Formats: sequence, structure tokens, C-alpha cells
Amino acid sequence: MKVKIKSWIAVASWKWDVPEDEVCGICRVQFDGTCPNCRFPGDDCALLVGKCGHSFHMHCLLDWINTESSRGLCPMCRQKFEYVEQ
Ligand SMILES: [Zn+2]
Ligand SMILES: [Zn+2]
Ligand SMILES: [Zn+2]
Repeated sequence: MKVKIKSWIAVASWKWDVPEDEVCGICRVQFDGTCPNCRFPGDDCALLVGKCGHSFHMHCLLDWINTESSRGLCPMCRQKFEYVEQ
């Protein structure tokens, strides 16, 4: 599993006018920005909201789900991750 420590530290210092938990649980980027895999807003970086209450960028979650260790679980609470249709 790849861990992007570098970008995590970089984005953690950003101060935007949103509550602390309005960030992706995987990359820690706010949801009004794109994930680290997307360079431009509008790169079709959708938001997935899980039934467990955790939300992630679609791309971050796909990367996570594709790792063997994920076993289809939410990376935050380790419940089976099912997203809510928006
Ligand atoms: Zn993300
Ligand atoms: Zn993305
Ligand atoms: Zn969860």
C-alpha cells in the first residue's frame, strides 16, 4: 500500500473555512478540492459518502479498495464500506 506522507503533511497545514472533518479520510484534502491524483478541479473527482458516515474522494477510495489489505472495509472504522447513492 502506498502512503503519501509528503502530500499529507503539505495539505494538513492548509486552513480553509470548513469544519475539520470536511476532509477526505484518506488524503486529508478538503472535499471542495480534488484528491492528490487529480490536478485540476473538475477532473471528475467525485465524493463518496459511506453508510458508516465516512466520506472519501472516489479516487482515494478506489486506490484503497484495490489494495489487498483493505478487504472492502472503510479505512477509518473498518466496517464494510458501502456508499450512499447521492
Ligand atoms: Zn482523498
Ligand atoms: Zn481524484
Ligand atoms: Zn467508516
